[in-house]
Amino acid sequence: MIVDEAKKELSLQERDGAIEEIAARLGARAERGRRFAELTSLRVGGAIDWVISPVTEEQAAAVVYELDRAGIAWRALGSGSNVLADDAAHHYVVVSLKELKGEAHFDGERVSVSAGYSLPRLCIDAGRRGLAGIEGLGGIPGTVGGALWMNAGAYGHEIGNVTESVRVAREGRVVEVPGSEVKWDYRHTSFREGELLLGATLHLRPDDPEKIGARMLEAKNKRLATQPHGARSAGCFFKNPPGSSVGTGKMIDEMGMKGERRGGALVSPIHANFIVTEGEDAKAADALALAEEIRERIRREKGIELEYEVELWRAEAPKESPESGAESPESKTSEESESSKESEESSGLQTPDSRLQTPKEEKR
Ligand SMILES: Cc1cc2nc3c(=O)[nH]c(=O)nc-3n(C[C@H](O)[C@H](O)[C@H](O)COP(=O)(O)OP(=O)(O)OC[C@H]3O[C@@H](n4cnc5c(N)ncnc54)[C@H](O)[C@@H]3O)c2cc1C
Repeated sequence: MIVDEAKKELSLQERDGAIEEIAARLGARAERGRRFAELTSLRVGGAIDWVISPVTEEQAAAVVYELDRAGIAWRALGSGSNVLADDAAHHYVVVSLKELKGEAHFDGERVSVSAGYSLPRLCIDAGRRGLAGIEGLGGIPGTVGGALWMNAGAYGHEIGNVTESVRVAREGRVVEVPGSEVKWDYRHTSFREGELLLGATLHLRPDDPEKIGARMLEAKNKRLATQPHGARSAGCFFKNPPGSSVGTGKMIDEMGMKGERRGGALVSPIHANFIVTEGEDAKAADALALAEEIRERIRREKGIELEYEVELWRAEAPKESPESGAESPESKTSEESESSKESEESSGLQTPDSRLQTPKEEKR
């Protein structure tokens, strides 16, 4: 109806006005016209209404507080290396943490760093200073915030193991939460949807920089040998099934699906658990169709329900959104996950729908 349309239009205008006002008042850059295709490593995904890029932890905490108060939906995005956002227009605010990098502050065995700081950069910085404990994470192409959010890990190291405290946005303020109060599971943590991570203090251990460098090189070489290099991917697409001695990549490979293509998405010929996108016309729908085809075949042929490792972001909030902050059913030690997989990922039992996530405000 015309009246309803006019109302909707007006409320969108009001929302846009509120977003501009909040960003201007807090001095944060707010942009329109960005697309997930520019902001995620899969290089697909639709238009985003607004991207706000805070540059300090205090500013970021204030931005999300004001958005929450105004009832405006938002979502945090780091480097976008673990997100598949669908092709439609996303009517919410993306709070990008990429500009929230600052400096890494080293103090003895500790380093304090903001959420937007590059994880690979931090691993190099720490290694050069003779601080060990995160050198296995050097090849994970994301921000510290993204790594904390999902307890990123590889080659025997998980970020949760060395996190002394995490700075979180609460009621517009920066609040320090001891790492011991966070549940660090396999690629999952107890942080709740709607919680913005601002930074962390890691407690590392002293070691010979040369030895650390050698371990970093070893991890890098393993990656280069087993994973597609320079491809548009989000890392492993699926977790390994719990209790299975065969990794998901191997299962997909054994089904002869390496190189299988749907539109602009294909199963990497190098690592079958990587879906990569190619060409200007690649769509998120291509990657999702291929992923669902893989899941269907594994379900049919092996009776196994694969859980997504990447986060699937819907443009629109579904009427009833499942609780994606639910605890992961399985957690694994680094050693277990190392042995159970070609590279670094592992298990879980979530249904696909529980990974179809909605913006933070709408989840509450
Ligand atoms: C080639 C390749 C290799 C990979 N290898 C590995 C690997 O070995 N091990 C591994 O664990 N992962 C791996 N990944 C996946 C990915 O790099 C990690 O999950 C990484 O930690 C994601 O960080 P990000 O900044 O890109 O997060 P994003 O993809 O931007 O976000 C991921 C999730 O974290 C949330 N988030 C991000 N920042 C914040 C914040 N500050 N506050 C609150 N929520 C936040 C987002 O809302 C989203 O839900 C790989 C990816 C690629 C492309």
